[in-house]
Amino acid sequence: MERSLSPAARRRGVARFAQVWARAIVGASYPATGLVDVEERLLGLTERLVDALFGEPFAAEPAAAVGAVVAEHTFAAADALAATIRVCGARLLAELRLDADDELAGRVAALQGALAHGYTRALRERILAGQDSIHRAAHLATDARFRTIFNGAAIGIVLADAAGRIVDANDAFLRMLGVAPHRVHGRALHEFAHPEDAAGLRDAHAAQRLTGPAHLRTELRFAGPAGATVRAELTTSCLRRADGRGEVQLSMIVDVTERHRLQSELRRQARHDPLTGLPNRTVLAERVTELMSAEPDRRLGLCFIDLDGFKAVNDSLGHDVGDRLLVAVAGRLTGALAAGQLLVRMGGDEFVILLADTAGIDDVTATATAVLAALAEPVRVGDQALSIGASMGLVERPATDGDLADLLRAADITLYQAKDAGRGRWEVFDAERNARQVTRHTLSTMLPGAVEQDQFTVVYQPIVTLGEQSGVGGVGGVGGVMVGVEALVRWRHPRFGLLSPEAFIGLAEETGQIVLLGRRVLELACRQAARWRELCPDGVGAPYVSVNLTARQTREADLVDQVARILDETGLPARLLQLELTESALMSAAGEPMRALDDLAAMGVRIAIDDFGTGYSNLAYLRRLPVHTLKLAGPFVDGFGSAHQHDPDGEKIVRMLVELAHSLRLTVTAEGVETAAQAERLRQVDCDSAQGYLFAPPLPPGEITRRLRATPVGAPPAAPSTVSTLPAPRVKGAATSRFVS
Ligand code: C2E
Ligand code: MG
Ligand code: MG
Repeated sequence: MERSLSPAARRRGVARFAQVWARAIVGASYPATGLVDVEERLLGLTERLVDALFGEPFAAEPAAAVGAVVAEHTFAAADALAATIRVCGARLLAELRLDADDELAGRVAALQGALAHGYTRALRERILAGQDSIHRAAHLATDARFRTIFNGAAIGIVLADAAGRIVDANDAFLRMLGVAPHRVHGRALHEFAHPEDAAGLRDAHAAQRLTGPAHLRTELRFAGPAGATVRAELTTSCLRRADGRGEVQLSMIVDVTERHRLQSELRRQARHDPLTGLPNRTVLAERVTELMSAEPDRRLGLCFIDLDGFKAVNDSLGHDVGDRLLVAVAGRLTGALAAGQLLVRMGGDEFVILLADTAGIDDVTATATAVLAALAEPVRVGDQALSIGASMGLVERPATDGDLADLLRAADITLYQAKDAGRGRWEVFDAERNARQVTRHTLSTMLPGAVEQDQFTVVYQPIVTLGEQSGVGGVGGVGGVMVGVEALVRWRHPRFGLLSPEAFIGLAEETGQIVLLGRRVLELACRQAARWRELCPDGVGAPYVSVNLTARQTREADLVDQVARILDETGLPARLLQLELTESALMSAAGEPMRALDDLAAMGVRIAIDDFGTGYSNLAYLRRLPVHTLKLAGPFVDGFGSAHQHDPDGEKIVRMLVELAHSLRLTVTAEGVETAAQAERLRQVDCDSAQGYLFAPPLPPGEITRRLRATPVGAPPAAPSTVSTLPAPRVKGAATSRFVS
């Protein structure tokens, strides 16, 4: 931390503070030594506090040692601790002539906490250490040394007889509870405890007098003066007679009320912004994490607000005006909140509103409108009326889509788009636009590091059956049984947010980085599929995982070894892995690469032709290839069956393709199925399975797990059609005789 404090200024500040501190302690009670003496001692302690204050990295512990020294020297001064804490908070920064910014104020609060802790710890230890002599003294009852400690101690001391009746209590105890001596004598200590703690203390003391532990230590509440509650640390020792029965019970009571208050204040400070009193990002993180780990269907919205022109106010009118403006804005924003919304100050002039359980982006834009309206009127600060606007980035999405960092990044990028577009407005996060804005160059330089830093995640889109029993288009549009999932990679880019494969797969292919990336995806997908298989009793109903391969990947010399190694390491059976290649990738896989596909098929891995129908559409080659599945491209499905727009030719082509595929013992998966009408027609032409938004979008793995768990065991397997169950992998050429052209 850079603080402009010259050595001389620091020396003067330390001296001033030591003086103020000494007066506070001496004023608090009668000092053991004279004022100058105290001041001199405190000078060294102040040095240590100031060292700690500026320490880098900051640590509050040294203040505990200072607290312990204060306890040593002011043993008799009952209020020394309270006075010390007070004066530190009120005067330390002031005497050093420093502005109390957030960071410094936080450090002082932490020092106060450590001071209090060190003080009480030292005090208790000292008394415990002297316990034997106290015992002996109590026994003699008239010992002069005991009387001195008893009367002068800063902590409460109570002596009780063999029946637990109080025979003596010192001033500190009487003062702590605000009671007169005659009200104490003959009564039991538990009668002064808080009603909820009284019975426990009575029993513990009774047990101790009979057989219990020599020392009993507990924390409890006492009923203090004027209805106040005193939190105390209680240590009771028992002095025994020869027969072992308790004779004298000596209790020491340390008032820790102030320490408790400080601790809860520190806890509060850790979660709140000191200037505006609003919750801080810690609270935001907690709420978002809570939403993310709750029901999977929940959605959330975020409105990221940045004031326009705040820096100008700060620079021209000063930080004081800036601070007051922020407080006023916080008030306006609070007034604009709807029920259940959380307003957080992120720092500087940035605020965030979190909306739980949104129904769509409209909920968030409504909030943004309310924010703009709340700031429409100028804000009064002193005698100035300041016009202040705001720009906002809005995000609305399923709570499980990525983590808090993704969410904030998306909102932040969008906020800057709003600023660019002319301020005083909001923009809605648009993943596509976001991806487009990213230059190819930036991405290609970042790709290699991204693989190493594990920035890629995989989402999974269910592939479901389309048979008679599948109930396609049923409730919620969720169709048949989930037989497989397609693994689709996403790049969690630290600056650009979640990128879709369209933004980077082509690039990775050109630069060759696809090889590393592809291996990573294959590993993640296989490991995940193996876990899903474990969820299914005996592996029945376990979904296969379908992983995309590019042309370049099929040309890698060690592709087969890689796949074999990954299957081996993850324990996934080969039959639960499908590799998808586009037609063009397949066509380019002549020679060695083709042999690799043959080897993979022979291992039991399934091969699918992705986006079938968009490439060469050269049906003749199907015969020669070790292929098990055709994935019909979206455009085929598109032209084919919305209720109003029936395309008989398109339907005829699909019917033929499916027949042809079946005659080659290939299964057919339709891609991009978005409507129930499409699904129904696909089912009528005997298409085996389908994927698309109608059934489910690509989902995070946890959501697939949830769906697997929700499926009753023994759910119908694939459709009853003879060819719709997935054929056993075949070796090249095995089925050529069945080819019908
Ligand atoms: P693809 O293999 O044809 O994957 C299907 C794409 O269609 C996915 O886009 C999916 O989100 C999208 N989709 C799913 N249902 C529907 C629907 O009902 N309607 C419409 N319009 N689209 C739907 P995504 O995830 O953006 O992937 C795009 C392409 O990127 C993939 O096309 C695939 O070729 C490639 N890709 C994705 N992940 C990987 C990977 O790990 N490795 C390689 N080499 N390529 C990948
Ligand atoms: Mg695919
Ligand atoms: Mg596809």
